[in-house]
Amino acid sequence: MKDSNFLKEHNARNLWHPMTHPADSLANPPQIIVGGEGVEITDVDGHRTVDAVGGLWNVNLGYSCAPVKEAISAQLDKLPYYSIFRGTSNDAVIELSQMLKDFFAPDGLSRAFFTSGGSDSMEIALRLARQYHKIRGEAGRVKYLSLKKGYHGTHTLAASVNGNANFRTQYEPLMPGCFHIPAPYTYRNPFNETDPEKLAQLCLAALEDEIAFQGAETIAAFVMEPVLGAGGVIPPHASFMPGVREICDRHGILLIADEVITAFGRTGDWTGSRHWGVKPDMSCTAKAITNGYFPFGAVMISDAIGEVFENDKTGKGAIASGYTYSGHPVGAAAAIACLQETERLQVKDNAAARGTQMFEGLTRLAEKHPLIGDVRGGHGLMSAIELTSDPATKAGVDKKLLATLHQVTYENGAMVRISGSNIILSPPLVVSEGHVDTILDALDAGLSAVA
Ligand code: PMP
Repeated sequence: MKDSNFLKEHNARNLWHPMTHPADSLANPPQIIVGGEGVEITDVDGHRTVDAVGGLWNVNLGYSCAPVKEAISAQLDKLPYYSIFRGTSNDAVIELSQMLKDFFAPDGLSRAFFTSGGSDSMEIALRLARQYHKIRGEAGRVKYLSLKKGYHGTHTLAASVNGNANFRTQYEPLMPGCFHIPAPYTYRNPFNETDPEKLAQLCLAALEDEIAFQGAETIAAFVMEPVLGAGGVIPPHASFMPGVREICDRHGILLIADEVITAFGRTGDWTGSRHWGVKPDMSCTAKAITNGYFPFGAVMISDAIGEVFENDKTGKGAIASGYTYSGHPVGAAAAIACLQETERLQVKDNAAARGTQMFEGLTRLAEKHPLIGDVRGGHGLMSAIELTSDPATKAGVDKKLLATLHQVTYENGAMVRISGSNIILSPPLVVSEGHVDTILDALDAGLSAVA
């Protein structure tokens, strides 16, 4: 390995970092991570921290998951690649599709379409939604509705349903026909409503209103994350997603759950939709499906949609979408091992218990640090604190303060993620009580340093 100085000096010379200004990468070298063990990461200077980011919400089982590593290695030896385009398949992906069918049975989802990641999964689900309506003779259903603050990926169709201007403006015009309704975000919303249940009802009314305005017969699908992630961890009230399901059903609109973060235990249940008692028509997964060790994803599809495609006699059901790496055997082998470990360890239970500990700890920190304007979480290991320089106006905090907070927290033992004025905490689902205490203590030190 090159030495620390070389790596820091050369980091941003020849590479561009996603979601980062190139000038910023040049001016502020990032933490260069060179090792991972258990739920801890080590940087190029040998500093070790608990990874409170969990990779990027994906390393649910930590960095030492031997069964997944061994499965990848064994599959590389046996068959490192074969496509599943028309005319061929591979054994690993067939086995995986059986396992996913069982895993997603309580969500009513049985068919899988494989991808290389979350943006890919979203792209496929959005395409299949339009195609489903075309097969059924409702070709006018082409629009998509989604939540402001939602994040669904980088491809143009997925970016068009993104609800955050930061991920849109540079690339506009995006796809026409995509419309957004307010998210059930109690800290900031256009209704100035702080009661979560009342806010959920107002957002549902906004959805009804938008459907009436657009015309239900023009809308293909409504897309939502069961708990909004990148937007700053926004858990809706328990009545919200069931309310969305009921409205979609009444208007013949498909419900696509973006479970790229929430599937496989993160919310304290096996999927985010199940957490709210909702059966979506399609569910987009990626990230933790392989514990982040291999780029992979799957769109899970309901029986009802599956049958429409499979029984089509017009030719419109031909799936004219696919990636070279759809059904990659190494990704499939990783996912099989990952699912087995996920279930063997029942990680959802630890996510629920440690998530409660994290949420309670953050609530205590908010009593001590006036900089914390809002604490969100309590649904598994997805939590955030939103910082404000002025509780009356809810103004955000400046970047320098955030950088110092991040650095001091890091020096005190926890890698956290800054997004806007939010500090997001999404550690691996296998964290111990002690790890959560370490994260909270490190954050306390970071907040004290900028108080
Ligand atoms: N949907 C959600 C909810 C996500 O959080 C992400 C990534 N953070 C994506 C889609 C896009 O996934 P990917 O980065 O793997 O393309």
